[in-house]
Amino acid sequence: MRIPVFIPQSKAVEVVEAVLRIFKEQTELRENRTRARLKYLFMRHGWTAETMLEAIEAKLGTKLDPSPVEEDVVPDDVYRDHIGVTPQRQAALSAVGASVLRGRLTGEQLIQLADLAEEFGDGHLRATIMQNILIANIPNSRTREVVERLNQIGLRVEVSPFWRGAIACTGTEFCKLAIAETKAFSKWLVSEMEDRLPTFDQQIRLHVTGCTNSCGQSWIADIGLEGKKIKKDGAMVDAFYFCVGGAVGKYAAIARQIGFRAAAEDCPEAIERLLRAYLAARTPGEDLRAYFARTSDETLRAQLAGTAVAPVERDAPPLGGRHVVDA
Ligand code: SF4
Repeated sequence: MRIPVFIPQSKAVEVVEAVLRIFKEQTELRENRTRARLKYLFMRHGWTAETMLEAIEAKLGTKLDPSPVEEDVVPDDVYRDHIGVTPQRQAALSAVGASVLRGRLTGEQLIQLADLAEEFGDGHLRATIMQNILIANIPNSRTREVVERLNQIGLRVEVSPFWRGAIACTGTEFCKLAIAETKAFSKWLVSEMEDRLPTFDQQIRLHVTGCTNSCGQSWIADIGLEGKKIKKDGAMVDAFYFCVGGAVGKYAAIARQIGFRAAAEDCPEAIERLLRAYLAARTPGEDLRAYFARTSDETLRAQLAGTAVAPVERDAPPLGGRHVVDA
């Protein structure tokens, strides 16, 4: 969802405060902890981008400047994850971003990062929404050294599309709302995908989230996996419901509920089938987002399953109990 206005830097804090106040005043959201998310205003209470803009402007007491029409400004395929060397506005400086697989850093790596930021930059580190880390203000002549040093401490700059695009929420390890484990799973999933499709040539957002609250942002992923439990061979196991086709840019969309779920151990095989189907069917130059946008849910589900299957329902958000279904 895009709210088509510009926010001048001088008003940024005021606008953030307005949004927070709108959230705070929603008693419906505050009555149920599992629904304490702004998204429920849109999903269940009929809010739209226009409603939100009206509410923000009412709080501000002024109108914001409209932004250009979306089609005029949005490129085909957008991927901004800050990985690699990015020239800064300051002519002599660059930022170097490293990919932190599923957002896990050790204490030792944090100390080494701080040392690198002091040695090569101005002591600042920045964390990104893709769970990556950025060292800014590095003289252009020293960026190669920084890349090598980052690689040496296990924070890789040159990585596979699966490594680069994987993020995971906290999951069962530390989150009491979680239904599925996410951090170890996503690490294993990335290594499986690298083995299965070593030459895959597309950027891909592979987001793993441990329950329907979607802190892992399954809704904006090319492939979003939402944690659940199913019974497989008589045992209850971690599983994931698939959302496919979330994108920004020309094919901007919320990921579609594709009606497919799989036990965690079966996910790599399902994703391999889906991506091989894309590689086989793509037209010259067609990226993954364009392919997902033009392909029906039924076809994508069949590609994931390996055969045509009936859709399964996505679980409702947890309301105090955990939802378990048969495989
Ligand atoms: S999505 Fe669920 S499991 Fe993951 S951090 Fe959020 S509440 Fe916890």
